[in-house]
Amino acid sequence: MALSGLEIYKLLPKTNCKDCGFPTCLAFAMKLAQKQVELAACPHVSEAAQAALSDAAAPPIRLITLSSNGNKLEVGNETVLYRHEKTFFHQPGIFVRVSDDLPLDEIKARTAEVDGYVVDYVGMPLSYDGLAIAYASGNPEQFGDAVKAVCDTTHKLLILIADDPAALKAGLAAADGRTPLLCAANAENWRRVALAAKNAKAPLVVRVDDSDPSTSSEQRLDGLAKLTEDIAKFGVDDLVLDPGVRGFNESLATITHIRRLALKENFRALGYPVITFPGEGATSQLDEVTLAGQQIAKYAGFVVLDHFTEASAYALLVLRANIYTDPQKPIQVEPGVYPINNPGPDSPLMVTTNFSITYFSVANEVESSGLPGWLLVADAEGMSVLTAWAAGKFDAERIAKAVKESGALGKISHKQVILPGHVAVLMGELEEELPGWEIKVGPREAVDLPAFLKM
Ligand code: SF4
Repeated sequence: MALSGLEIYKLLPKTNCKDCGFPTCLAFAMKLAQKQVELAACPHVSEAAQAALSDAAAPPIRLITLSSNGNKLEVGNETVLYRHEKTFFHQPGIFVRVSDDLPLDEIKARTAEVDGYVVDYVGMPLSYDGLAIAYASGNPEQFGDAVKAVCDTTHKLLILIADDPAALKAGLAAADGRTPLLCAANAENWRRVALAAKNAKAPLVVRVDDSDPSTSSEQRLDGLAKLTEDIAKFGVDDLVLDPGVRGFNESLATITHIRRLALKENFRALGYPVITFPGEGATSQLDEVTLAGQQIAKYAGFVVLDHFTEASAYALLVLRANIYTDPQKPIQVEPGVYPINNPGPDSPLMVTTNFSITYFSVANEVESSGLPGWLLVADAEGMSVLTAWAAGKFDAERIAKAVKESGALGKISHKQVILPGHVAVLMGELEEELPGWEIKVGPREAVDLPAFLKM
């Protein structure tokens, strides 16, 4: 039973020491009741209070961790239904499935393809999280060999997909040193599979079948909740849900329902991340990517794809990166002066803001022009040029300060600076702030910079 903020407050030390980062114990209690902080943030709670607060302190969606050779993926611990309410904290892991009945060389080649794909997106290196090895051979030894082939090729994370505990055991032995996600326990096999997960201290997928069309969504979720409760009592707490639905509509409705039950009703039995298999609900590769995109947005914790292409990987990774950035904190680059194409002292000095997308748009255009230049990035609190100007965060005073304090003066031998065309209106004020400087007005759009620089 969830406790109210006041009930939690009564159990806290009430010293208002602020060590938790909140001004009072009451403020901390209110946040704890809303699942927006963890009890561990208060170092002064007594053991008795800790026991009493354990239910209130537990995250509504359990945090699940996979690890492999220094790589780690944390999924869960989400606290809101909509990103704009706060932020989404842990992005879903994206995995590509390989089947153990493929020749080992092919398994290695597919793994290497996934392993080698990294794309730079506004300064962030994006890549898939791992491989999911599926047990199709019927031979546990072969499954172990397939897992070993993957482990020999990549340090990425693993999901072992097998209903047979013997196969999981062989896979776990081959994945020695890694903590994979085991998939899956169902109503028939759960005791034996849960034992394998318990011994390996590995998280476990709990699955209900969607094979009976007469089963309603409520019945399916009831069955899933019953299974998670049984398995948790058995001693495996790190669980992931597979509600068995695969298509666009059912997937959206069911996963959203699970999220609501966990966050709004504090329904512990379904308070776990969800795994999805978009390829099983799709009729084409395009459908698979589209469904995966839907599930990344709402609210998958692990997404297992059947296909890998660079085009689909780029689309899904960029989508994920955008959804799982804090909407209240724009992606920013460090203010400063950046060299492009080996500039010298007489190369032009261009100014822009520290909003990542703005920076990379400008930098990419200058770089692709082949012309050398210095790009001065002013601190505009992560806003784009026009937004920052309208908010008073990108004015003549700030630009002049950036020119003087960024180190640009030590790199150039001239006194010229190029303003973005959108803020041409700042030209006069900037001339006053930078006496003796020539202020040039550049183009409004980054794409026109190469032509401007060649003039
Ligand atoms: Fe109160 Fe604990 Fe926060 Fe101190 S750290 S203010 S005792 S809740």
